[in-house]
Amino acid sequence: MPPGSVMFVHAHPDDESLWTGGTIARLADAGVAVSTLCCTWAEGTKRHAELQRALATLGAPPAAALGYADGAYPDSAPGAPRLCDADFDGAVAQVTAHIRADRPDAVVTYDAYGVYGHPDHIHTNRITLAAVDAAATSSIYPDAGPAWQVRSVYFTTVPTSTMDAIGRRIGTADDAPPAGTPNDEIDLTVDVADWVDRKWTAINEHRSEMDRSTALKALLALDEDTRRRLLRVEYYLRRDLVQGGCPLLPDAREQVIPR
Ligand SMILES: [Zn+2]
Repeated sequence: MPPGSVMFVHAHPDDESLWTGGTIARLADAGVAVSTLCCTWAEGTKRHAELQRALATLGAPPAAALGYADGAYPDSAPGAPRLCDADFDGAVAQVTAHIRADRPDAVVTYDAYGVYGHPDHIHTNRITLAAVDAAATSSIYPDAGPAWQVRSVYFTTVPTSTMDAIGRRIGTADDAPPAGTPNDEIDLTVDVADWVDRKWTAINEHRSEMDRSTALKALLALDEDTRRRLLRVEYYLRRDLVQGGCPLLPDAREQVIPR
């Protein structure tokens, strides 16, 4: 059965467009309900506003902000703890409440290495997995709405061949392990070639990041052909939580790479 609703849980504004923007646009165009949670950058901040413009470009409704601070930027959520320092149970309870309210069939977040090792991404993976389990269990957080069983979790990732092609490590210390999932472990590639212009427009809505973020600067430095080739495919690992799970997309243009 195709998904009626898909939730994306991201750590920072720009990740939704960079890693999953084509998938969001495809789902929105197919009439699937899309919801987005963003752990950092509170409502009222510059980057939260950029996130909302990016989602509008992708055809998706506005994101909900969990209101934690971005590790490097205390002013991203004045007075709030940094995501990685925040009370873990409190964060899981928040995401659980959103899952029970939005009732997604599939939830998308980062792989366990946060795609390339970013601590906020890794933390978001852990919060999301704990919340998916909690959401299905009525006895925990009983005030957060009726229990809801997510059918599949998808982890956004990048194959090692792509990382080799880029020829650099993005956003991590020099001694960090290289990013990337071995190609034969990728469960799903999503063809977003027809959505790549909207995805690039959405990425460019994150203006305050364009001259700061290593990943975005690297993308900007590429010639257009190379950039389109990189952005036209999105990669996922899949974990089914019930028998049969749930496909990420309602139509056939997703491809499972044979193991
Ligand atoms: Zn990020």
